Amino acid sequence: MPLLLEDERTQIVDVCRRLTPDGLVIGTAGNVSLRRDDLLAVTPSGLPYDDLRPDLVCVVRVADGEVVDGPLAPASELGLHLAALRATRKAGANAVVHTHSRAATALASLQGVDELPAMHYYVAMFGGPVRVTPYHRYGTPELAAAVEAALAGRTAALMGNHGAVVVAADLPTAYEKALQLEGLCDSYLRALAAGTPRILTQDDIAQVVQGLKSYGQSAPPAQG
Ligand code: 13P
Ligand code: ZN
Repeated sequence: MPLLLEDERTQIVDVCRRLTPDGLVIGTAGNVSLRRDDLLAVTPSGLPYDDLRPDLVCVVRVADGEVVDGPLAPASELGLHLAALRATRKAGANAVVHTHSRAATALASLQGVDELPAMHYYVAMFGGPVRVTPYHRYGTPELAAAVEAALAGRTAALMGNHGAVVVAADLPTAYEKALQLEGLCDSYLRALAAGTPRILTQDDIAQVVQGLKSYGQSAPPAQG
């Protein structure tokens, strides 16, 4: 019998194997989910990523978070994943990656810093400057609500004194963007340590948002 959401569960195992070597988490920190229709595949809570297999990935209902398949309890941040998907439904998000990557966590723990500003034009890939939520204990509805609010018009948020969350239409994109967000936080921290970062204008970012729509190989090559 094929596993329910086998493709989504397999994709989750594949990206989870990369989390530690890529420096996005240490130990069992972080969690990953991927939706198909009204079901969500999500990592189990507290399981070392090396031990994860597709059949151990939980499947829950998007509507109420009830577990419909899998032997283990879902991630303690399930409510946050559901809230993040709700907040970004219009943007077509299906995948959520939550990390404790170091630069993102350091930036999200700085007194007086309430966003990753537009120092680098790549913030446009998240819709603009990435907001930092206030601190709330992990796994709480308060944290989920703060992330939901921080994601208005954005596809990423920094979680105060905790880490980062990134959403995208598919899991490879969400994972790639989690790496990009970490790189941006790292650059910003370095610039802050060296001097006063120069911040791009809203107009600069709006132009990049436009440009990114046709960036790379998204358009077919011209014939000739
Ligand atoms: P889980 O092990 O429950 O997924 O929690 C990890 C985490 O990062 C909580 O914020
Ligand atoms: Zn966490």
